[in-house]
Amino acid sequence: MERMRWIDRRGRWPVVVALFAALLLVACGPGRTENRSSAAGEDAALRVVVSLPVFISMVEAVGGERVDVTALVPPGADPHTYQPTPADAKAVADADLVFINGAGLEEWLRGLIESAGGQQVPVYELAQGLTTIEEEDHDHEHPEGNPHLWLDPTYAIAYVRQIEQRLSEHDPGGADHYRTNADSYVAEIEAFDAWAQEQIATIPPERRTLVTYHDAFPYFAAHYGLELVGVVVPSPGREPSPRDLARLVDEIRAQEVPVLFVEPQFNPRLAERLAQEAGITTQVLYSETPPEGGGYLELMRTNIEHVVEGLR
Ligand SMILES: [Zn+2]
Repeated sequence: MERMRWIDRRGRWPVVVALFAALLLVACGPGRTENRSSAAGEDAALRVVVSLPVFISMVEAVGGERVDVTALVPPGADPHTYQPTPADAKAVADADLVFINGAGLEEWLRGLIESAGGQQVPVYELAQGLTTIEEEDHDHEHPEGNPHLWLDPTYAIAYVRQIEQRLSEHDPGGADHYRTNADSYVAEIEAFDAWAQEQIATIPPERRTLVTYHDAFPYFAAHYGLELVGVVVPSPGREPSPRDLARLVDEIRAQEVPVLFVEPQFNPRLAERLAQEAGITTQVLYSETPPEGGGYLELMRTNIEHVVEGLR
């Protein structure tokens, strides 16, 4: 007690008591510690849940130590056919705010959000208000258009600005911090994009063609002036017919497409067989999970490097 009085005389005990209470809460609270990406013991951090791994780095870049970010879809999983777990429901219910892509990508999340509805967890769609490209196979799966907008850096900047806005609304005391961080991250994305344009310019124009595994790259292709010749699997979870595949091989041959882009979250067997039939090689592109240890910018940089290697 003597120690407490000593603290009391200096008027510091309320802080100590509050800190102790917070530590108790962290120690005894529901197991939110798994998959935490940062800031153990940062009890005041905003708990942010994102749907896809690629969004983690965007929220961390803007939020810094004021946020604690967790993704629902595990690294390397296919978000189109993902089945949420009870742990995901708990993560959403415990979150201060949730960022999803929207544009129909996370249909599996609807039930989760409704079941967490009693908690009034705010869910923000990063693609909201942005213009989508209609899907080739648009009669099903994504009636709202193709959802992969973040693969165009100008759309990624819109995502980052919305993240800045929402974090500031939930934590007004951090608004300056969020603005400064968002400004420098946007500058990094712009610098990346300038570099990427120079890289793409080294590919002979007639070789600027893209055949990808799933239909994730129309925004990327449009932004970098690549022609999207075709996709192996128009709708994830639905096998293409032998006729679809034969037609794609014909397209690849007719347009002399030099490489077939595969994605690590999908079994490569079908794409490899197809590439073999067309007499071309395969190369990797990332869409929803960045390369190991990286974030959005590493994902984009790697994609540009692989596109240049594959097409040049
Ligand atoms: Zn996708």
